[in-house]
Amino acid sequence: MENNKYLEVRAIENGTVIDHIPSSSLFKVIKLLNLENAENQITFGMNLNSKRLNKKAIIKISDMYCADKEISYLALVAPMARINIIRDYEVVGKRQIEAPQEVDGLVRCANPMCITNHEPVITHFTVSERNGELALRCRYCEKITSQEQIEIIR
Ligand SMILES: [Zn+2]
Repeated sequence: MENNKYLEVRAIENGTVIDHIPSSSLFKVIKLLNLENAENQITFGMNLNSKRLNKKAIIKISDMYCADKEISYLALVAPMARINIIRDYEVVGKRQIEAPQEVDGLVRCANPMCITNHEPVITHFTVSERNGELALRCRYCEKITSQEQIEIIR
């Protein structure tokens, strides 16, 4: 209980809390999980102090439990995020983020010459790891989109 008094973002009764998001990735996560169109009650904070990250963001989504596929997409923009499942204000579970093997239609190809940037073609990438970072290889131009180049298109 020691810290509850000082919670920077109000606790939720039931739902999902995504914590330890790099502040710079907050809006990418919101796009990725399509929260702009959600009708659930959502609260978030950014530029909160964190020991692990310089500035972190947190999102609390009432009455929503993310699908495995959505959780895996978090590996693209917030691989260190922690996901807590809340019931009756208690953490009843944690979800591990595992990188997806393929990503369809969520990320823009970093190659400006790629057909997906000129024609209405849905992007498709296979995901691998390079030096601890994710690398997305485009099916069409075979160029790599690195983790820091990831731009969410949704
Ligand atoms: Zn491409």
